[in-house]
Amino acid sequence: MKQKIVLATGNKGKVKEMADVLAQFGFEVIAQTDLGIESPEETGLTFVENSILKARFASKMSGLPAIADDSGLVVNALNGAPGLYSARYARVDGEEADAKNRQKLLKELTNVATENRQAKFVSCIVMLQNELDPSPIIAEGTCEGVITFEEKGENGFGYDSLFFYPEKNCTFAELDTTEKKKISHRAKALAELKRKLGMDK
Ligand code: IMP
Repeated sequence: MKQKIVLATGNKGKVKEMADVLAQFGFEVIAQTDLGIESPEETGLTFVENSILKARFASKMSGLPAIADDSGLVVNALNGAPGLYSARYARVDGEEADAKNRQKLLKELTNVATENRQAKFVSCIVMLQNELDPSPIIAEGTCEGVITFEEKGENGFGYDSLFFYPEKNCTFAELDTTEKKKISHRAKALAELKRKLGMDK
């Protein structure tokens, strides 16, 4: 029988990028939203702390093992912002949040030249067996790129249309979902998780 696991995110973009990969690892994935579980307050000061908070809360509420991803965009010229606060950078909730966040990022970088627009996406994935699991599996992945001066591409979510990825010579939003799933910071973290679970053999 497959091991049931709760995916501790309310972000549709993340569910899209993670659920079937986790299913390939042999898990029966249940989105926390399908169990009526909300996200906890993210009070940590690092991606790893917030990821643990989210996984622990989902595990507590469901009584099942849980996997969470805390991720964000780290921009050097902005001292690491939006960072942990990527999802609510413009302090807007709901459908409009991503577009407003991108507008704010472009505004903050108005006078910053291309060579100083380096950024990285970070994904920290945590897996807990139960609420009190003292030994979480922690897997991180990053992708380095450059923030563009305008949006390009229609795919993805969040800051994808502003994130130019030199390795692919396009923004993340110009990649189709299948390709992004192979190369993104989240894909790298999932590959690391697979390795740590001993499923890569
Ligand atoms: P979290 O749900 O608190 O981890 O916030 C993650 C936020 O970081 C998202 O709402 C996006 O704004 C941003 N982000 C994380 N991963 C990606 C990605 O793959 N593409 C674009 N934006 C991302």
